[in-house]
Formats: sequence, structure tokens, C-alpha cells
Amino acid sequence: MSDDLHDYRQRLRSWLADNIDRYEGEDPDLGADISPERVAQARRIQAKLYDAGYAGFTFPKEYGGQGLTPDHERVYLEEVVGYHVPTRLFGVSINILGATVAEFGTHEQKARHVPRILRGEELWLQLLSEPGGGSDLAGLLMSAVRDGDNYVVNGQKIWSSGAHFADFAICPVRTDWNVPKHKGISVLIVDLRAPGVEVRRIKQVNGEAHFCEEFFTDVLVPASNLIGEENEGWRVLRGLLAIEHAWVGRGGAKRPDFRQDVNDMVALAKAQGLADDVGVRRRVTDLHVGLQVQRWTSDRVSRAVAHHGFHHDYGSLLKLGNDDLSLRGGELGLALAGADGLTWDLADNAGGAWAHAYLTSRSAPIGGGTTEILRNNVSEKVLGLPREQSVDRDVPFNQVPHN
Ligand SMILES: Cc1cc2nc3c(=O)[nH]c(=O)nc-3n(C[C@H](O)[C@H](O)[C@H](O)COP(=O)(O)OP(=O)(O)OC[C@H]3O[C@@H](n4cnc5c(N)ncnc54)[C@H](O)[C@@H]3O)c2cc1C
Repeated sequence: MSDDLHDYRQRLRSWLADNIDRYEGEDPDLGADISPERVAQARRIQAKLYDAGYAGFTFPKEYGGQGLTPDHERVYLEEVVGYHVPTRLFGVSINILGATVAEFGTHEQKARHVPRILRGEELWLQLLSEPGGGSDLAGLLMSAVRDGDNYVVNGQKIWSSGAHFADFAICPVRTDWNVPKHKGISVLIVDLRAPGVEVRRIKQVNGEAHFCEEFFTDVLVPASNLIGEENEGWRVLRGLLAIEHAWVGRGGAKRPDFRQDVNDMVALAKAQGLADDVGVRRRVTDLHVGLQVQRWTSDRVSRAVAHHGFHHDYGSLLKLGNDDLSLRGGELGLALAGADGLTWDLADNAGGAWAHAYLTSRSAPIGGGTTEILRNNVSEKVLGLPREQSVDRDVPFNQVPHN
């Protein structure tokens, strides 16, 4: 580690100790049913971090960022473990959507939104998936018609994480139905409190309700909220997804203290009297090795993207690795919990927490793009293999059968 990073870590460490509370037990940044009070508190902490220079590490200084390297961000993520900071609540808003606006937005959009996103004043989410399917993002049906200085938007989105407390969204819409599907999409910035936007929550199998569905009825969106050119939104979406895969893959969506996960498994194995079981020892060790390899791979890929011109699509490799580890961790925890894991009571830490972790782990290979789609992405964009066959690629979208 360079001296610069070493100094940075020391400064950060003492600032955290002086300014941010530590927590014991459950991470207050996690959990589904986040109350408005907790969101307000998280915004205050994020503002404090921003004001001290600990937000937007790799974002340009011109737009409120720090202009630092991914290594500084990694040091930050390592040091904040155990501190009450809203890394997860603002994760998507800052690292995917703020990063997308910073890369593809107009100067006005960047100046208006990026500092507020980094400070937590604006919480953003992505309205990509629709009831007709999420993998075929280019097949979206939400419509936007230009009317003077506005677009009039109608349609439905679904599976939107945290829409019930978010402020703005990046929302792809169809602006031309007479051209093939990839060529008639535009990307809008949508105010989720605009008249005509109805947000409903969805309850999940793990008992949480972190998703929503949104119904748009004649919602007026200013034309100045267009990101990129009209009908050229596919380029923006490809960029957004690549940014997302890279961020999820390098562990951004979860706490970076990989050892802690394995330590939890070891503690559970001991509590269950399984610590000497050869099979258990092998599975825990395999998970530990997998997590370490993922971490090193993540470092290599992040550096290659940041410093050596590798395309963001390499991030898909990281998300694939992360998805596999999530499934393995969920399965191992449940196996170690044994019959306790079937009690399925969140208040029962002996088993309920492991059942909950298992059910939640099943979402990893779906959210942010399924495993199958990511493998297609790797084969086409990273390995340069032939494209997946498509029957609707060159057909005008209004001639493609839907639903
Ligand atoms: C935790 C979590 C958070 C999420 N957050 C958001 C969010 O904030 N915003 C948002 O917009 N969406 C969000 N989603 C939705 C997510 O993006 C979609 O669920 C995902 O893209 C898959 O879409 P789908 O569920 O419609 O499945 P479908 O697209 O209908 O796919 C069904 C199955 O078919 C397979 N399949 C589809 N096409 C192909 C193909 N070409 N080749 C091979 N297999 C294929 C898929 O892999 C999958 O197994 C979230 C999902 C999860 C689990």
C-alpha cells in the first residue's frame, strides 16, 4: 500500500472515531422496512460524510466528488465496517445512478443533481424492469410522447428497490415505436413525487417489502430531464448496467468485511457442535477461499477498468462470482443451522436469521441482471463470441408481438 493510502486510512480512521457512532449487533443500515425517521437520519449522516470529504471518492471534483481512486474508496469501505454509515441505503443512488448521471448527463444535470446525490439530499433508484420482463430491457413498453417542453409518460414499472422513500429515478421509456427495439428508447430523470406517479409496495418471500411497483398516468416530465439524445437511450442503459455490474461485483452492495461472513459460519458451526466435522470444515474453507479469490479478482478488475482502459463489461465477471458466493453462503448457513433454520422466525436468532439469509441469497442471481443474462454478456462483450440469436432485433417495435 502506498504511503498516500496509508496516511489516508489513518486520517479516516481517526475522523470516524471522532464523528460517527459505532453499532453493536444488527447493522442499522440493513433491513427492509426502513422507517422515514431512519431514512432522515441516514441522510444526515451522509451529509456529514460528504462535508468531511468522504463521499463520491471517484467522482469529479467539479461535481462535488473527491477525484480520488477506487483504492481510496476500498479503504473507506474497509474502515467503516462497524460504524453507523448508510453505505447500503445510498449505494445504488450514488454508485450506479449518480455515476450514470456523472458519465452521461448534461452539464446542467450533473451540476444540479450529482452533489445532492452524493450528499444524500436526493435518493435515486432505477425504474428498469416492467411486468412483461426485466431481462429484455430493450423490450420495454412504457411510453413517452413529446408535447412542447415536456414528455407525457404512461405505463408501469416493477421490482423497484426502495421506491417508497426515493426522490428521483432513472427511467427508460419508448419514444419511437416505428424502429427496432434498441433504437426507440430514451432515458429520463423522473421525479417520483410528480402528479400521476403511484407507488405501491410488494411483499417478498423473505417477509420484507423492499420492492415497489409504479403506475404512471399522464406524468409530465420536462424535456430537459432527457439523459443523452432522444431515441439513443440504449447507449446510456448499457453504460448504466456495466457500472452496476462492476459495483455489485466489487462487493459494493454488501459489507466488504468478507472475513466476518466466514467468522459467522465458524461461530455457528461451533454452536451446533459441528466444528470438527470434516465436511463442514471443507465447506467453510471453500467459502473462505472463494471470498478471498473474489476479493482479489475484484481488485484486479476494478484496477483494470480504472487504470488500463478495460471496459466496464468486465464487471459482469465480478457479479457472477458474487452471485455464486451469495448462494453458497446462504446454503451453508442454512445447512449449519439445521432444524433451527426451519423455524423461520426473524426474532429467533438461532435459526430465523439463517433462514432469512438463505431466502435473501436467492435474489442475488436475479437482481441487477440474471446469471444467464450476465453469462451472455460475458460471452459477447468480454470473450467476443457470436451474439445470441434474436428474432426481433431488426423488426420495427410496433410489429413485434408483446405479452
Ligand atoms: C434484489 C433485487 C433488486 C432489484 N431491484 C430492481 C430495481 O431497483 N429496479 C428495477 O428496475 N429492477 C429491479 N430488480 C428486478 C431485476 O432487474 C429483474 O428481476 C431481472 O432483470 C430479471 O427480470 P425478470 O424478473 O422480469 O425475469 P425475466 O426477464 O422474465 O427472466 C425469467 C428467466 O428467464 C431467463 N432469461 C431471460 N432471457 C434470457 C436469455 N436471453 N437467455 C437466457 N436466459 C434468459 C432469466 O435468466 C430468468 O431466469 C431487482 C430484482 C432483485 C431480485
